[in-house]
Amino acid sequence: MQVIEDFIRQGRKNRPGYKVRARYITIHDTANPNRGADALAHARYLHSDSAADRPISWHLTVDDRRVVQHLPLDENGWHAGDGRDGAGNRQSIGVEICENADGDRARAERNAARLVARLLKELNLGPDAVVQHSQWNGKNCPRVLRSRPGGWESFLDAVRSYWMERLTPIMADPVATLDQARELLRQRAPDWVLMADLYWSVAPKYRVRPDIALAQACKETGYFRFGGLVQPWQNNFAGIAATGVPSDGKTPLRGADPSKVRVERGVHGAIFVDRATGVEAHVQHLYAYATTDPLPAGTILYSPRFALVRRGSAPYVEWLGAAENPAGVGWAWPGYDYGKSIVRDYLELMLAIDAPSVSAFVLASDYARVVEELRVAQDKLRRISEIVG
Ligand SMILES: [Zn+2]
Repeated sequence: MQVIEDFIRQGRKNRPGYKVRARYITIHDTANPNRGADALAHARYLHSDSAADRPISWHLTVDDRRVVQHLPLDENGWHAGDGRDGAGNRQSIGVEICENADGDRARAERNAARLVARLLKELNLGPDAVVQHSQWNGKNCPRVLRSRPGGWESFLDAVRSYWMERLTPIMADPVATLDQARELLRQRAPDWVLMADLYWSVAPKYRVRPDIALAQACKETGYFRFGGLVQPWQNNFAGIAATGVPSDGKTPLRGADPSKVRVERGVHGAIFVDRATGVEAHVQHLYAYATTDPLPAGTILYSPRFALVRRGSAPYVEWLGAAENPAGVGWAWPGYDYGKSIVRDYLELMLAIDAPSVSAFVLASDYARVVEELRVAQDKLRRISEIVG
């Protein structure tokens, strides 16, 4: 989901500039079912004299493909119809959902729910802060959500589930132990148990979680059965450069070490000289998505696709599928459920394995997380009591 910043110019009558500390997010429908009345069209409208003269403005418009932001989140807009000093106009962020006939409304609503969940986190608010325009002045808005039985409730449910979604950072210490990883492979891919050791020896150099990388390799290769286009002898465990079309033998390596990486006419994806190189290329590729940092000092580039990645676009596993990535890019395209599946169907399985040294390690990392959550909660409590008291 792409967010385009296209602010109303300062000094326009529909950019009043009153400072906002948002307490609500107000949901609107555009009430414009015309073809072409998408987020970009509404952005153009907000730049017009007629919008300035009314004056009317809001913060964000969402359609089935993108989000356009018209105002900074700390400035107010005129969208709630509750007067100059109304809480709707002065303490809420206005979000318009498009209903253009040539758009996919269901998708626009999903995008809106995801956007609203993100705003809630950014503004440090809970789902209770999401309100209908009608709350401020009685107008029948958002009219599409209001007229559909259960429409508003299901929209709120979607917001809530995006808001509660737990994201799994790709760059962190492993949560699964090497023993758990080995045991998972012993059960599912007995000839490949040592892959666990390879991932554990390579990934930490890049601060990438080896358990996540291995989980992804298990998904990509079907537990190293290689049922797809890539063959086991290629040592390519994550389908790197496998685009669905076999190479013509001239696919550029884009800086990857030609003594260890090659392509071959008629073969799908890159070929790595040995398993260790293949694992390192895979880890490098995850690293490309997870961070904008340069490769660690002393490492040699093995991933021929590294240069093509939008760096830092997927710090979380759940964002590896473009469909679930806020920027609409990712490892897998369209990738519905791709990242979540890595966590749910592979990583969780690894974590559930009862290998000897597990519990202490998992408990320790749980402990660290709980301590951190407690710290955040205490901090919040302190700020609240400062305001209240
Ligand atoms: Zn409205």
